[in-house]
Amino acid sequence: MEKKKRIVIALGGNALGNTLPEQMAAVKITAKAIVDLIEEGCEVVVAHGNGPQVGMINNAMAALSREDANQPNTPLSVCVAMSQAYIGYDLQNALREELYNREIYDIPVATMITQIRVDQEDPAFQSPSKPIGHFMTEEQAKMAEEKYGYIMKEDAGRGYRRVVASPKPAEIIEIGAIRSLVDSGQLVIACGGGGIPVTRQGNHLKGASAVIDKDFASCLLAKELDADFLIILTAVEKAAIRFGKPDVKWLDDLTVEEANTYIGEGHFAPGSMLPKVQAAVEFASSKEGRTALITLLEKAKDGILGKTGTRIHQ
Ligand code: ADP
Ligand code: MG
Repeated sequence: MEKKKRIVIALGGNALGNTLPEQMAAVKITAKAIVDLIEEGCEVVVAHGNGPQVGMINNAMAALSREDANQPNTPLSVCVAMSQAYIGYDLQNALREELYNREIYDIPVATMITQIRVDQEDPAFQSPSKPIGHFMTEEQAKMAEEKYGYIMKEDAGRGYRRVVASPKPAEIIEIGAIRSLVDSGQLVIACGGGGIPVTRQGNHLKGASAVIDKDFASCLLAKELDADFLIILTAVEKAAIRFGKPDVKWLDDLTVEEANTYIGEGHFAPGSMLPKVQAAVEFASSKEGRTALITLLEKAKDGILGKTGTRIHQ
């Protein structure tokens, strides 16, 4: 029998929605797309983002400490951990149901709470750039700076928001456990929200006030699991050059060199499409035979069959 293709899927914001009811509805559609790939004979590992969810949890925990003087502020690393468990629960629940609906009873589904080590010397810590949480007035922002030591930035005339560092993932702490589960045929959800960022202090792993980009975390996971495919599922069917312009060109198939040229020409927006193309390039260039694909959630199966999406390969 031919060896199953191993695929790491990175789910973007549109696979999960923005609110609790939205997420509950969205995961049903997401589960269908994932089980489609399993029915195609692929071995699937799921990673996901957490932008809206970690913002929501962060705000809820901040409200708690405002209401109750005995509750100190919740570290961002703990908020990421909470988001992993919450999103993992919804995905686990929906995936199990979808597998059962298709009479697949032999694939257990499990979520791995995942810590990812980042480098304390990562330059990202010197220039926090990723906005999280809700907008504040100047006065509220000043208070947050004084009370919690947050770094606040004015965001495009819409008010002030907390910004955090987005360092590169260096090491997936639970990779051994993830690999055991995947190798034994389980459907694993891991590296949620880019992973819980930690720095090493001897034997202690200290939670870091940062959010790791899920596109880079998924790339590292795919490399560590020796996957054949990294599929980044997002809100567009393909990446494009001259995106948003009348002469936009949607990209089907790119070599690493072509992708790097387009990156250099500034075709992909930082914070959205750029990290995806960078992660795709990093994965595709890491070993012969590795392919990355960027496409829509609903098109995952067509993408793997070579019918759509942007493919990046050596
Ligand atoms: P996700 O939650 O999946 O990470 P993002 O919003 O971060 O989604 O990134 C996907 C978005 O990137 C698309 O919806 C699109 O608006 C935007 N984008 C920016 N530049 C490009 C480009 N060159 N080609 C395609 N999409 C682009
Ligand atoms: Mg994104």
